[in-house]
Amino acid sequence: VSLILVDYDGVIVNWGKGYGRALDAVGPSAALIPRHENQRSFNLHEGISTEESEIVIGVMSSLDYYDMEPIEGAVEALNSMIEYGHDVRICTSPWPDNPNCIRDKVRWTEDYLGHEWIKRLIITSDKTMIMAKWLIDDKPDIKGYYAGFTGWTQVTFTQPYNRFAEDGGYRLDSWADWRNEEW
Ligand SMILES: [Mg+2]
Repeated sequence: VSLILVDYDGVIVNWGKGYGRALDAVGPSAALIPRHENQRSFNLHEGISTEESEIVIGVMSSLDYYDMEPIEGAVEALNSMIEYGHDVRICTSPWPDNPNCIRDKVRWTEDYLGHEWIKRLIITSDKTMIMAKWLIDDKPDIKGYYAGFTGWTQVTFTQPYNRFAEDGGYRLDSWADWRNEEW
């Protein structure tokens, strides 16, 4: 059994769907900004105009992180991992320009996973400073103080924008596949 860090957005929470809804609400000026399923890069500003970038900044600073659905199978998998004996912690970086982000994530954790899971919540602006055996995360190339020397090995949770990213070769395509011998 292992100590496993699990990222929040794009791994447990269907962030892309919430982001898409927020862009839809902006109207025609946001029509051509790539939605989650068409994102080619983790960087939301890549390949869009300056005007569109400003829309993205506005959407991100007011995005409702509570109004998100779980990714299919995530809640069941997290509870099964605990039952199996893993020590699972949710490890998330807040969006710095969104004052409600942390509060929304704590509320979401309480409502979808239960009160006990709040104690498993690690909120950090630098995931490389946290030690564990594994980090399940959708972000390619995680930067930070100990980048390249992290105390964990990343398991990339497959999403459209990381499909072709170089990683260490550890992948999780869906929560249905979490059981494996290596963990
Ligand atoms: Mg993420």
